[in-house]
Amino acid sequence: MTRPFPLHAGIATVVARRALTPRMLRLTLAADAFGDPGIEQPGEIVTLGFAGPGEELVLPREGWRFPPGGPEQHWRNFTVRRSAPADATIDVDVFLHGPAGIAARWALNARPGDRVGHAGPRTHWEPVADAGWSLLAADETGLPALQAIVEQLPAGHRTIALVEVQDEAERAPVDSAADVDWHWCVRGDTAPGTSTVVIDTLRTLELPTTRGQCWGGGEALVMRDVRRHVAAHLPACAGAVQVLGYWKHRATPESVDYT
Ligand SMILES: Cc1cc2nc3c(=O)[nH]c(=O)nc-3n(C[C@H](O)[C@H](O)[C@H](O)COP(=O)(O)OP(=O)(O)OC[C@H]3O[C@@H](n4cnc5c(N)ncnc54)[C@H](O)[C@@H]3O)c2cc1C
Repeated sequence: MTRPFPLHAGIATVVARRALTPRMLRLTLAADAFGDPGIEQPGEIVTLGFAGPGEELVLPREGWRFPPGGPEQHWRNFTVRRSAPADATIDVDVFLHGPAGIAARWALNARPGDRVGHAGPRTHWEPVADAGWSLLAADETGLPALQAIVEQLPAGHRTIALVEVQDEAERAPVDSAADVDWHWCVRGDTAPGTSTVVIDTLRTLELPTTRGQCWGGGEALVMRDVRRHVAAHLPACAGAVQVLGYWKHRATPESVDYT
């Protein structure tokens, strides 16, 4: 049976915060539902809800429905980086982007005891059984999912991981049994979402021509370029491509799809 979305929704409480890098903040959230979160794959997401100034947070009902006439809702997607059912907590890693939106601003100021809406989980990575290798691409928003995926790949599985970051201080490789080539693509002073470092690096790589799987999470236009490159140059990966826009830069045309 298909798992419903959301499987659970409610209010979570911040129990810890920790800076992972200068721009990546880990928040540990607690809620009864996280004792049995229903997570099946690495890189699954939780959708977090924030009340606007002077507003009450309204939780979704009957799936993803909100009462008519209520305040505007502000929900944003975040990867469940770690789930600890034994203490009913999850970790989310929030990229403190500028200009900050409601989620990044909330995270920057979040302290233990603060509350946030949660709804989830939802799958964003399905392992492909006959894939002999993996290509993974992300910016900071997709990095938590990429790390979670890399940690669970099988021993010796050839993996090429491209990650766009602002500078060297944001590099965050993780241990894995897989055979991972990390490519940290530094965009420097170029604004997030406007850099071509990921696609430029991808074009220089000699990739296997055998059946593999491709996953990506990052700015929608950048991920569209990755999808196009994969479609044009990696025909053996057809049907095994999950490269998704995780956010859209304001200059990215509306016509650019997230998937
Ligand atoms: C499946 C999925 C999983 C995700 N997982 C994570 C995660 O684990 N960690 C994480 O940090 N994000 C993650 N994201 C991305 C996150 O949901 C977006 O970045 C979201 O827009 C942030 O909300 P906000 O309220 O801070 O900004 P918004 O109010 O949505 O946007 C405000 C402004 O900021 C810009 N903006 C949004 N994101 C960025 C960015 N990354 N860099 C620069 N400018 C930006 C927008 O273009 C807009 O101009 C995920 C998204 C998806 C779809």
